[in-house]
Amino acid sequence: ALNFGVTPVEVKEIVYQAVAYLGIGRVFPCLHIVNDILTERGIKLPLDPQATTTTDNRLKAGEQTMINIMGESMRGFAESGPEESRHINKWLTDNCFGDYYTRKGLDYKQREMITFCFLAAQGGCEPQLTSHAMNNMMVGNDKAFLIKVVSQCLPFIGYPRSLNALNCVNAAADKMKEAETKPENPGAFPMGDKLPEVFSKYFVGQAYLQPLTDKGGPISNVTFEPGCRNNWHIHHKGGQILLVTGGKGWYQAWGEPAQELHPGDVVNIPAEVKHWHGAAADSWFSHLAVEIPAEGGSAEWLEAVSDEEYSKLGK
Ligand code: MN
Repeated sequence: ALNFGVTPVEVKEIVYQAVAYLGIGRVFPCLHIVNDILTERGIKLPLDPQATTTTDNRLKAGEQTMINIMGESMRGFAESGPEESRHINKWLTDNCFGDYYTRKGLDYKQREMITFCFLAAQGGCEPQLTSHAMNNMMVGNDKAFLIKVVSQCLPFIGYPRSLNALNCVNAAADKMKEAETKPENPGAFPMGDKLPEVFSKYFVGQAYLQPLTDKGGPISNVTFEPGCRNNWHIHHKGGQILLVTGGKGWYQAWGEPAQELHPGDVVNIPAEVKHWHGAAADSWFSHLAVEIPAEGGSAEWLEAVSDEEYSKLGK
């Protein structure tokens, strides 16, 4: 690896990344071998430190890393699961993703690729291999790339483990496809059907609508897929109240900064205020839309929120 331009830091980071997947017992001898080779080549040890977390922030950093790689659904993972084994979810968060993935020297794509190799080579951990094949795809190492990785591993790990790895890559690709097409309800109310054409033409992306009641005034559950938002619009006469029930989204009134929305947030939209609402780029989003009844009330639909404006949100 060193002869072909892999840096000393990268070589050592590969070894450290292996600890979580192969165990200290198997990795420790490799560390000695690497240190001996680096010393033989006149490279001064220790190398520059690569850790970016401390005991105080590793849990939070680990959670953020999991969200960065696997998405918003990983929020709160450390406190999830059956009580008697919850500490393992916490260790996965603060140790596995908080201590290793946050280190400098290798990026997510590289760390996920080598993790895939560790698991493929080890064998017998196909569920984790499938999960990490999905993680690879989520950070940009696609199916064709992973098949090349399996091919490269084959002479070292043999056919049975390589064929298992190939199955996991295919299973991961199927799951990714399924997740892409399957709507995810982030909220507590039924999602209903895709918006009818009469509304969908005023939306970018796919939204779902479930009318809940019209007693007093109409209340509907609106669900937005990631990146989906409605056009700028105005509620004339009666305003609108948004009660956020799930995911992460945005509300913006004309001429004002966009406001990030989370479950429990309430947005009062007065009549005649030009505005839009919708999901964050990386999250499903749902709110109840409460229409304030008014004599002669109506909605006026205007221009779309452009990709350029939308991509600047939160930056
Ligand atoms: Mn509105």
